[in-house]
Amino acid sequence: MCGLMAVVDHPEAANLTYLGLYAQQHRGQEGVGIVCLNDDRTFSLKKGKALVSDVFRDYDFSKLPGRTSVGHVRYTTAGGSSLDNVQPIFAEISKGRVAIAHNGNLINADKLRRELIQDGAIFGTSSDTEVILHLIARTPSDIPLEEAVISALQQVQGAYSLLILFSDRLMVVRDPAGLRPLALGKLGESLVAASETCAFDLLGAEYERDVLPGELVVIPMDGKAKSYFPFKKEKSAPCIFEHVYFARPDSRVFEQNVYSVRRQMGVELARESHIEADIVVPVPDSGVTAALGYSEQARIPLELGLIRNHYVGRTFIEPMQSIRDFGVKIKHNANPEVLKGKRIVVVDDSIVRGTTSRKLVSMLRDAGAKEVHMRISSPPTMGPCYYGIDTPEKDQLIAAQKSIPEIGSYIGVDSLAYLSLEGLYKAVGVEQSKMCDACFSGEYPLGTPQQLVQIKQEQLL
Ligand code: AMP
Ligand code: SF4
Repeated sequence: MCGLMAVVDHPEAANLTYLGLYAQQHRGQEGVGIVCLNDDRTFSLKKGKALVSDVFRDYDFSKLPGRTSVGHVRYTTAGGSSLDNVQPIFAEISKGRVAIAHNGNLINADKLRRELIQDGAIFGTSSDTEVILHLIARTPSDIPLEEAVISALQQVQGAYSLLILFSDRLMVVRDPAGLRPLALGKLGESLVAASETCAFDLLGAEYERDVLPGELVVIPMDGKAKSYFPFKKEKSAPCIFEHVYFARPDSRVFEQNVYSVRRQMGVELARESHIEADIVVPVPDSGVTAALGYSEQARIPLELGLIRNHYVGRTFIEPMQSIRDFGVKIKHNANPEVLKGKRIVVVDDSIVRGTTSRKLVSMLRDAGAKEVHMRISSPPTMGPCYYGIDTPEKDQLIAAQKSIPEIGSYIGVDSLAYLSLEGLYKAVGVEQSKMCDACFSGEYPLGTPQQLVQIKQEQLL
């Protein structure tokens, strides 16, 4: 759950990177960093543990003067939330200076880290990304940079979309399964890269194409970009949850407009679990797009019965449960004018722990709703994500602990229905099991960290 942004060869590279990260703030709110490659091949860095607008408030961008820069917004999925872990991570290795920004999660990072430490490596952060840096640093100093990066990445397993900036080139990489998004665009003569295309829109850049699964794009500062496919081919498995919740609806992700896909999820949901009601109420913002589709398909008018305070961030994205509980209350309010005496269908994207839905349902009832039917535009969340989206362990996932009727009575609704996995794929318009859907299906395309440990133990035996 992070956002990446790169601008290559532009006089206002850092400023544009800042704007691109601003547009992608929803991908991570714990920290932000920008590294700039200066004309004299030195690097400048600014990072902080706050929102993009706060870290760069009144910032003097002449302190980031270079023509190429990479940036990152962070939400912790591996490693702690200290400033050291805010990316890009910058280091000096035998191959020169390097800055690295990573979206995704490595599943064999702990093992590699232990081995590297035993071998004398000194780690400055607790993030899995630093493992990649160490692996690059440890390749023989006489091999070309591309080969060093390829050899390092061949040792890691998991999800990675990466920006790796050296003093003479930028490398843009997507893991062979293509779990996390990464797009390339053009701004005049300059090349840009971002996790989501909404960043390009803000800059006035044009989307060119997605970085393909397993592709390494090398962009020299004084030459043409080259593309390589150096990794063993794997079944591609882009994350379906980007479409369900994570990406912004105005973005193009995995070559599809998120808004259209999400709206269609609402259409499929209404087809599968229609119920008589007076109004459809979206949970803002996460349920809005699917609710539009639901309302259209069910021919039930959409009303804004829940209002969101926009000055509160994503409550879920607060790492502490105590803050999260408080956050749900200050984030939404019910509008009795709209709800009183009505049978309502409330639409949201997912139920994770059940905290949000339970509080919202009680708010809707307090505001006078006669019946509350909850419709969820994805299947029950049954397992954690190991590939870069923060989901709690199984014991905290309500759908892994309770049946659907039990969840319904826990959150206090008259009826509860989820979109089926088939319906979800229908909405995305992709053949079933062509994407990662592990948090819903339990089928982990790259395996889980526990499975890796088990395989290792079996090999040792
Ligand atoms: P909960 O209270 O734990 O059931 O939170 C569920 C809400 O959090 C959903 O309605 C989503 O909008 C949002 N959500 C679901 N998955 C995630 C996630 N991995 N990260 C952040 N927010 C999420
Ligand atoms: Fe996405 Fe879920 Fe797969 Fe994680 S487990 S990559 S959230 S689909």
